Amino acid sequence: MISTNPFDTFDADGDTLHEECGVFGVWGTETAAAAVALGLHALQHRGQEAAGITSFDGKWFHSHRAVGHVAGNFDEDRIIRQLPGEAACGHVRYSTTGESGLRNVQPLYADLATGGFAVAHNGNISNAMALRHDLVKHGAIFQSTSDTETIIHLVATSEYKLLLDKFIDALKQVEGAYSLVCLTPEGMIGCRDPLGIRPLVMGKLGDSYIFASETVALDVVGAEFVRQVEPGELVVVNDTGIKSHRPFAPHAPRPCIFEHVYFSRPDSIVDGISVYSVRKEIGAQLAIESPVDVDLVIPVPDSGVPAAIGYAQQSGIPFELGIIRSHYVGRTFIQPGDKVRHLGVKLKHNANKSLIEGKKIVLIDDSIVRGTTSTKIVEMMREAGAKEVHMRIASPPTTHSCFYGVDTPEREKLLAAKMDVEHMREYIEADSLAFLSIDGLYRAMGEEGRNDAHPQRCDACFSGQYPTTLTDHDEKAGKADLPLLAERVK
Ligand code: AMP
Repeated sequence: MISTNPFDTFDADGDTLHEECGVFGVWGTETAAAAVALGLHALQHRGQEAAGITSFDGKWFHSHRAVGHVAGNFDEDRIIRQLPGEAACGHVRYSTTGESGLRNVQPLYADLATGGFAVAHNGNISNAMALRHDLVKHGAIFQSTSDTETIIHLVATSEYKLLLDKFIDALKQVEGAYSLVCLTPEGMIGCRDPLGIRPLVMGKLGDSYIFASETVALDVVGAEFVRQVEPGELVVVNDTGIKSHRPFAPHAPRPCIFEHVYFSRPDSIVDGISVYSVRKEIGAQLAIESPVDVDLVIPVPDSGVPAAIGYAQQSGIPFELGIIRSHYVGRTFIQPGDKVRHLGVKLKHNANKSLIEGKKIVLIDDSIVRGTTSTKIVEMMREAGAKEVHMRIASPPTTHSCFYGVDTPEREKLLAAKMDVEHMREYIEADSLAFLSIDGLYRAMGEEGRNDAHPQRCDACFSGQYPTTLTDHDEKAGKADLPLLAERVK
């Protein structure tokens, strides 16, 4: 369903602006598109619905965008050959399905007065609809419903002469989260919003430069990690080298805490810290805060595994794989539509019955969103003969939606927004339920705790304290006079 409300960013089944994404770009290597395909493959966990690559051969830009996984869509013989050039950028995304899905697949491309411009975006612009409303009023013609296209229009209509100045002018008008990789004839730009909400790192492979959402994407192509792109930094790489710009007033950074809890791959280094070691430490903190007398610690795979190892090591209770996960089903949460989501949970996990029978167990998962997974897993453990089923969650209760690029349902669908912990326990039918405290989460990241006056990270999903204004969200009511995109593409 396509929303006709320009301020509707919430419809989980509609053609909305919600996205989870990964970006990758390389400048200065032969068969750049092949390197991008590999990088995107390592970032597949950040978005599994669609992928795209745009290359530049010195004269022409070449693009291929497809719905589906990277591996199924970017084979060397057919597609990569058609993406020549020594520079390329790419994108993986989770998009809600809909007939116009393909036109939202990135990189988005435009012919600007300064030349070709391709952009891949991870994050979410929280005033995209308000900006779009104004742009359309002044004659802009949008081709997608993506918030990223707003940036392109702002660049295109900027009064400045040089592309970089136009780009900076555009970014100064947007609010929210963006890690961008842009491909232009003069070079590749990697940049992060002033708060650095979403990650972006730089790597080097021989003489070529790479931008990627996570370090695992550097590993896969054998590139060395150079450094992260700093919050508010804009880095330009081209054949003459690398140049860093800091066009924004300095801000205290607020990188997303959920990258460490769930989103990033455990073998990535995010904000200079190993995601795996943070998750293990989260489990240890959880064992200290919420111990339980059981026979086995069992992770909900895969996302609960590192925290369960930490919980087991801290408590001395044996760690066992009491749930086996099929790897041939996508992430449960990521399948649009409630019916499929329920079906996905059953397909995805199975009880290791002989291990569970007659045992008191504690299950460890990273988060409860709607409560679908926990309810099914607790039931599955009881059916397998568990004597007691306790649940420990490796993050605080998710009480608020994310407006910065992590797909979460609207607030009313979040279990923790509707219930206190005891009611959640009843709902999932566990013998006990406990969440990690917010201070425990910060401690697991090497801090003394959360600085409530100046939180060190964006933890809005747990605290409701959003680090930027949320113009679209706040203006949602009463601005429904402009269709977002009325054409249905068959
Ligand atoms: P739910 O079943 O709705 O309570 O969702 C919780 C499950 O979804 C947990 O097992 C998490 O690992 C996973 N999850 C949490 N947040 C996300 C997200 N933003 N995208 C995909 N999966 C998620």
